This record gives sequence, structure tokens and C-alpha cells, in this order.
Amino acid sequence: MTIGAHDVLLFDLDGVVYIGAAAVPGAVEAIESATAQGARCIFVTNNASRTPAQVALHLRDLGIPAHDDDVITSSMAGATLVAEHISGGNVLAIGGPGVGAALSERGFTPVSTFGPDVAALMQGYGPAVGWADLAEATYAVRAGVPWIATNLDATFPSPRGIAPGNGALVDVVARTAGRRPDAVAGKPEPALLLEAIRRTGATAPLMIGDRLDTDIAAGSRLGIPTLLVCTGVASRLDGLAASGEERPTYLADDLACLLPNEAWVAVA
Ligand SMILES: [Mg+2]
Repeated sequence: MTIGAHDVLLFDLDGVVYIGAAAVPGAVEAIESATAQGARCIFVTNNASRTPAQVALHLRDLGIPAHDDDVITSSMAGATLVAEHISGGNVLAIGGPGVGAALSERGFTPVSTFGPDVAALMQGYGPAVGWADLAEATYAVRAGVPWIATNLDATFPSPRGIAPGNGALVDVVARTAGRRPDAVAGKPEPALLLEAIRRTGATAPLMIGDRLDTDIAAGSRLGIPTLLVCTGVASRLDGLAASGEERPTYLADDLACLLPNEAWVAVA
């Protein structure tokens, strides 16, 4: 199999395109080459905090030619899930700027405190989320409004080590309110990749990621082929040993496999 079989490549970001502040070696050239070969490169992230424009700017700073509409975040997929529960109105937006922006794009009005006029809650990661925000979320959940989580990643990689991710903050609300979110947008749930497929009109997408339990599982749940690259969390051995929904379709050391005439290794 080669890149020509796919019209859209869905790239996870951390551990695939960049690690922390720096691009993964070879990633810029590989993405440029994939684009030149006719594939549309889309960047999908569970991180709800930043807007697509902020993420695209970061990618361009790294030398990757990304447009704002090449970025799909779990906030965007989460807003689609909110729209499956309510038709409009005020939504309590907990998280970074990306959460409120995605709700606004969908025609909802993001608000920061709970009240009787709040019709749903969307909870995502944001570095400034604090006790007062989690309290507002708890009031909303206990009042019974639909609760959409952008993602349930327990941890968040920071330059100083592992920090609490949105899943840990959701757990605080769940423990306090006595129930779990009604829907989750981020990988391994399929909503994020579905959002990317819907927005691009992809007919033969390929999901490219570094984590078996999120990137690869999300692709498997949608029945789309997956490519594991070993520049992040999972090793080649992890990929070969994986089973079920965590078993990738293809395996490569890094994104250099996207260069012309590179054959991909199928995981038998
Ligand atoms: Mg990753």
C-alpha cells in the first residue's frame, strides 16, 4: 500500500508531527511530500484548549504548511455532539478558548456560569480551568443538562512532566455529581475523526498516530485503515504485539514512509 490509495491523511499531532515545541525530525518534509502527491493533510487533536487558528499558526511556525481549516479539534467534534442533544441556546463552556469558539461556530452561546438558561455543558481542557469552573460544571451536571466531554485523556504532557488532563478534570465533576458524561468527542471515540471526514468529504482516509489506545483504536472503531509511527508513545514492538481495535493496519518508524516510493509495512 502507498499514499496514493488515500485522499485524506488524518495526523495526530503530539508524538507524530511535533514533540513539545519542536517538529518531529522529517515530519515537515513528509507532510509537504504527501501534499505534493495529492493527499490532503488534516491535523486532528484531542486538545480542546486552542482554536484551530491557534493550532494552525503553531504548525506554520514549525514549517508545516497548514491552513486554519486543516485543523480539527475535539472541541469542534464536541460542539457537533452538543447539537445532537440541543438545538440552540446557552452552553456552559468549561476549558480554553477553543471550547467557546467551537460552540459559537455551531450557533450556540457559550457562557461561563451555570443558570436556569443553560441547556448543556461542554467540558474540555484549559490551563486556566480551576475549582470555580469545576463547581459550575457540577451545578450543571447535577441539574441534569446534557454533558459533553471533549476528551477523557487522564494526563497531559507538559515540559515539566505529566500534568492532569481533561479526563482527570471530568473525573472530579463525575465524582461530585454522581454520573458520567453523556458523550465524548475525542479519540478513541469516533466523533473527532467523523468530524474530520465530514468536513473534508474524505472517501478513503488514513489515520496516522503514535498511540494505540487512542489514535489506532479510533480509526479501528470507524473501520478506516491506520498507520502507527514510532516517534511518540508506542514502539514497533508495541505495534506488532497489539490486538483487537489497537492493532494498526500499517507500521512505520516515522513519517518518512510518506515519501514517494516508500512501501508501507502491513501488520499481518
Ligand atoms: Mg499523539
